[in-house]
Amino acid sequence: MITAAREAVDLLIQATGSWQFDDALNGLRDREWMALRFLARANRFSRTPSALAQFVGTTRPTASQTVKRLEDKGYLRRRSSDQDKRSVILDVTQLGEKTLLSDPITQLVHAIATLELGANKFRDLLREMLKQLDARGGRHHADTCRKCIFLTEADPNRASRIQTQYMCRFFRANLADSEIDLLCFNFEQ
Ligand code: SF4
Repeated sequence: MITAAREAVDLLIQATGSWQFDDALNGLRDREWMALRFLARANRFSRTPSALAQFVGTTRPTASQTVKRLEDKGYLRRRSSDQDKRSVILDVTQLGEKTLLSDPITQLVHAIATLELGANKFRDLLREMLKQLDARGGRHHADTCRKCIFLTEADPNRASRIQTQYMCRFFRANLADSEIDLLCFNFEQ
C-alpha cells in the first residue's frame, strides 16, 4: 500500500510540470497563469488579493505584483466590493477570458476528463486527499459551494434581485445557480 502511495506521489510530482515552468508559456509565466486561472474560477467572495495569495501559495506583496502585471496587460480589472468599499475585488476581463483559452493546463484537464476511472471519481479522491492534508497541516483549501456546510436552499418567499435557489449562511447572501460551482476560500466541508 505504501509503495503504491509512494509511486503515486512520484507521478503526481511529474504532473506539476503542467502548471509549474521556468519561462513564459503562451505569453504568461506560471504564477500569472495560476492567478488568472484562480480569479476566473473564484466566486465574488474570494476574488481578492489575499485569497489569491493563499491559492498561489505566496505572500500578499508578491501576489499584488502578479495582479499588477495582469492588470497592465488588460486581463484583470479591480473594483471596490459592494459590501465593503475598502475591499478590492479582482475581475477577469473579456481579454483575460480569451487568453485563458490558451491556458497550458488545458492539456491536464483533458487528460483527467478521459480517465477510465472518471473525472468525478478522480475529483472526489483529490478532495478527500486535500481534506486529510488540511487536517494534518492545519491548512484550509478552497472548494465549491456544493459540498459546503453553509449552503442552504433559499427561502422562495424572500424577495431577491437575482434569480436564486440557494443561500450562503456564512455570508448571508443569495447565490445564483452560476455561483455554486465556483471556488470559495470560506468553504467548510
Ligand atoms: S456556501 Fe460555502 S463555499 Fe459557498 S459562498 Fe458560502 S461559504 Fe463559500
